Amino acid sequence: MQKPESIVILTGAGISAESGIETFRAADGLWANHPVDEVATPEGFERNPQLVYQFYNQRREQLLSQDIKPNAAHTALAKFEHDFDGTFLLVTQNIDNLHERAGSENVLHMHGELLKMRCLNSKMVFDIRESFDYDTRCECCRSPGNLRPHVVWFGEMPLHINQINMALEACDIFIAIGTSGNVYPAAGFYQTAKNCQAHTVELNLEKTGSSFDTSVYGPATQIVPEYLEKILQS
Ligand code: NAD
Repeated sequence: MQKPESIVILTGAGISAESGIETFRAADGLWANHPVDEVATPEGFERNPQLVYQFYNQRREQLLSQDIKPNAAHTALAKFEHDFDGTFLLVTQNIDNLHERAGSENVLHMHGELLKMRCLNSKMVFDIRESFDYDTRCECCRSPGNLRPHVVWFGEMPLHINQINMALEACDIFIAIGTSGNVYPAAGFYQTAKNCQAHTVELNLEKTGSSFDTSVYGPATQIVPEYLEKILQS
């Protein structure tokens, strides 16, 4: 393997699976036993805001519990960012904070963050570790009913897309870790990178539908540290 100068890594729910956070099973349309259109669409929030607040409050509580910790794959990515002397960007579809807790610094959360909420009026984003709902008063406008999870739902525009596309067009390796390739636009990133002559790599428990140049299958905690070490040694 030739030593790359610029790398973009995309992570999905699979990297956090061995930390105890359930993945989103696109095949049966359920996320933590809830139909996705109920808890991850603007229409679902309009229909039943209480259910949506409760769903993300539960996910946040779980994320902050003592049992949930970064695993060896998160740690290997943070070490790699530190040791690699080229350009590095980590893009995650995950709304958890396990990359940051492992020590990653250059991370873009394209689908938002569980530990943030947003005012529907001012669009200001606030950190939040506790539960909140319709009755919670917003810090900026002081009214109830204005706060929502700072999470990108289906049908909404992901965050940082221009910055991500620029990095994809300039990278020489693109690595997708633990993502099913069912959720766009993230599912199309490998094609953007490929069109710009990058080598594309998939690290996953099992084969997904996309044709990557290199595929390695196994649990993320095992294959991610091994593959990243190989790049550093190249
Ligand atoms: P997905 O659930 O659709 O796919 C998960 C992928 O991870 C699958 O391809 C599976 O084979 C793979 N996988 C499972 N366990 C693995 C392991 N131990 N090692 C390596 N790979 C493993 O996830 P997605 O593609 O990220 O799309 C899901 C959407 O749901 C995202 O947009 C995300 O915002 C959201 N989500 C986030 C979290 C989180 O923050 N941790 C959890 C669930 C869902």
